[in-house]
Amino acid sequence: MKKRLTIRGLAIILLLVLFSLETAAQEKLDYQMLDRIRNEGLVNSKITDFLIYLCDVYGPRLPDSPQYVKAGEWVLGQAKGIGLVNAAMEPYGTFGRSWELLKYYAAMTEPQYMPIVGYPKAWTSGTNGVLKGPARLITAKTVADLDQYKGKLKDAIVLLQGEQDLPISFDPMASRYTETELEKLMLAPDPFVRRPQNPQMQDMMARQQVQREIAKMLKAEGVGVIVEPGRGKFGTVFVSSGGSRSKGAEMPVATIAIAAEQYNRIVRILQKNVPVTLEVEVQARFTADDLPGMNVVAEIPGVDKKLKSELVMLGGHFDTWHGGTGATDNGAGCAVAFEAMRILKALGVQPRRTIRMAFWDAEEQGFVGSRGYVANHFYDRTKKEKKAEYDLLSAYFNFDNGSGKIRGIYAQNNSAVMPIFEAWLRPIHDLGAETVTLRNTGGTDHLSFDGVGLPGFQFIQDDLEYDTLTHHSTMDVYDHLSRPDLIQAATVMAWFVYNAAMRDEKLPRKYFDPNAPAPARGGN
Ligand SMILES: [Zn+2]
Repeated sequence: MKKRLTIRGLAIILLLVLFSLETAAQEKLDYQMLDRIRNEGLVNSKITDFLIYLCDVYGPRLPDSPQYVKAGEWVLGQAKGIGLVNAAMEPYGTFGRSWELLKYYAAMTEPQYMPIVGYPKAWTSGTNGVLKGPARLITAKTVADLDQYKGKLKDAIVLLQGEQDLPISFDPMASRYTETELEKLMLAPDPFVRRPQNPQMQDMMARQQVQREIAKMLKAEGVGVIVEPGRGKFGTVFVSSGGSRSKGAEMPVATIAIAAEQYNRIVRILQKNVPVTLEVEVQARFTADDLPGMNVVAEIPGVDKKLKSELVMLGGHFDTWHGGTGATDNGAGCAVAFEAMRILKALGVQPRRTIRMAFWDAEEQGFVGSRGYVANHFYDRTKKEKKAEYDLLSAYFNFDNGSGKIRGIYAQNNSAVMPIFEAWLRPIHDLGAETVTLRNTGGTDHLSFDGVGLPGFQFIQDDLEYDTLTHHSTMDVYDHLSRPDLIQAATVMAWFVYNAAMRDEKLPRKYFDPNAPAPARGGN
């Protein structure tokens, strides 16, 4: 009896083990290919060269600006150079107007000389030549507060905010996920409870409304330039847009964001009733009203007779903000995708499915490029209409959370893909990539796919000075990329894409309700 129980117990355990291994066993992994991908990715990486050209030589890439187009053309040359096919800048619709900075100069000249670290906000006007005059601190809380200035602000250099609080930072600039944090990430988040809109939020919205009214009034008064404190400290300025890309929208007054420490110095001097003289010149140009928006695409064609019309996609957004050179946001993602393609080409991989790389336009304006692409190729949300490639896409893998290495992947509430991803990660746990979470992550282009029921995924990445330093700031430059992390990420990306391109079936999809609201579109 005792013996029989033991045998039964063993059998149950064995069955359980077999069951849990079943899905993994269904994933036929090519370990020789994995070793070759690891060698090509980790030992022969070319990712550094790509990033120096993309960031240092071509620089920031506001959507569809002349710099964006030049950088795109350079990528096409590189793509052809490594043997990719169908390389193109593919229009997806109308973007609107772009913006280009030609010159910026600012300094305090009285009571002392101080060159000013700053950056014009995108989509704002230039100044009318060099403006030189007193800094005017206007702390209006309502539009009526401005009445006293009527007729007195022509060509004025105006500051609208008081001294900024710059608390000491005790938190580290960068961090890697600990084992405990990764384990926590694998657990379901607490159920979401919608909170009533708090009074603080309403207060902020009311203030924003007043600020818009004030901006309109200042424009009408012919103010020369608005000087704002940039978010950030240590001379780093987080700067994005101050106007609109829409055709025909009014061009806002020239607006510059300057280093908060320097802004505070000017404010404190003015508050002591000591006059401050500033000199500012901005030359900026709005490009044509109705520019076509363009994504950059290139492929490794599939070879399997039945599967070559199917697709595996990878990429990240190509557009950037303009303060730095768009290195971590999102040169990193483009470089990881391109390097993954290079690894596969260098190994002579003949994928069963076609592998398509895409660099998206205008992610920062609300996933404009990827949404346009998805509407043209896969599914038109407004018409609720399937397009030719909807049934052919296996998966899209996105990279857009700075230059931190891949620690795992978000399964976007698609339970069926979890055991597949776990199987792919199992032989690369030593690279630090081992976590699959069912959770969603948002804020970037995989949502354009996810929102129409297509398997679109973003990786879990370590946060390396991303939120603290580089994301949308003037310090988003090559020096703040972690090259070892990106080399790891490209290797993992190549392995994921390879597996998706070779497995017998496309990746399973989750339930899609065409009537569900579109996902939020905050750019990341
Ligand atoms: Zn981004």
